[in-house]
Amino acid sequence: MQPKKFGVIGHPIGHSLSKVMHTRVFKEMNLPHTYEAFDVAPENLEQFIKQTDLAGINVTIPHKVEVMKLMDALDQSAKDIQAVNTVKFDETKTGYNTDGIGFLESLKEEGISLANKNILVIGAGGASRAILTSLKNSEARIFLANRTRQKALDLNEQLNLNATVISFDQSTFEKYLPTISIIVNTTSLGMHPHEDASPIPKESLKPNHIIFDVIYNPLKTKLIKDAESIGCKTISGVNMLVHQGAQSLRIWLGIEPPIQAMKEEVLKNLSN
Ligand code: NAP
Repeated sequence: MQPKKFGVIGHPIGHSLSKVMHTRVFKEMNLPHTYEAFDVAPENLEQFIKQTDLAGINVTIPHKVEVMKLMDALDQSAKDIQAVNTVKFDETKTGYNTDGIGFLESLKEEGISLANKNILVIGAGGASRAILTSLKNSEARIFLANRTRQKALDLNEQLNLNATVISFDQSTFEKYLPTISIIVNTTSLGMHPHEDASPIPKESLKPNHIIFDVIYNPLKTKLIKDAESIGCKTISGVNMLVHQGAQSLRIWLGIEPPIQAMKEEVLKNLSN
């Protein structure tokens, strides 16, 4: 088999979980391919995309939006989310976004159905946009809260979500949370180095809430720890990270990657 080269581009790129995760897949599946992390400054993005000999890349901060202009074609996922996190290079350069599928697959893996559920998405940034897009065709009723309320209202309109936009404050959460089944944190509240922060006070959580925090650093955010302590089912950002990566591999190589091995590798590297 012809070895192919893959990679992730970002700036800064630091210690890349994508690199260890994808390298593990190639090892596990006895594939000759390689995966590297590339620190690409914004001023070098265009040249990198034009000249690379890679067969596929993942794209991370700050290039997810800018890279769209450099594509020959955009998959519907990238058009909907208005950002690219996966590029396939063959005769053409095609941009995809796998974050939404990563979110849905994480729920599916846990056997969680969205049918007739009330889901509260907190945050209105890039991760929220991907998740909301993936929820659009589900049977869930969407509630949306963001610190900057106008951004939530704009997102609701742009994506034609028909969501209920609620205020980002404790008394509003107290009012709505008893009707909510799934709470998704897409804000950076609780992310390293602000580990003490959480978007929802512990007192507002109930044991029947399912808590999905897209943050994976730390592995257990305050929100996840609070939820676990009262018996809620929880899902961490690691699951979404793994499933969005798995979808990139399906796009590049048409393979069905080993999800558990990917998760194990990410967890090993996060706990280092
Ligand atoms: P983003 O576009 O910058 O959006 C950040 C969001 O957080 C906004 O809604 C912002 O509210 C809110 N926020 C920030 N600080 C806040 C505070 N102090 N109080 C209340 N709200 C606050 O970022 P993003 O790309 O969506 O990423 C968000 C998180 O998701 C990061 O932790 C990232 O690592 C994670 N993520 C995980 C995955 C995965 O695969 N697991 C994928 C993508 C992202 P305002 O609008 O009011 O500023």
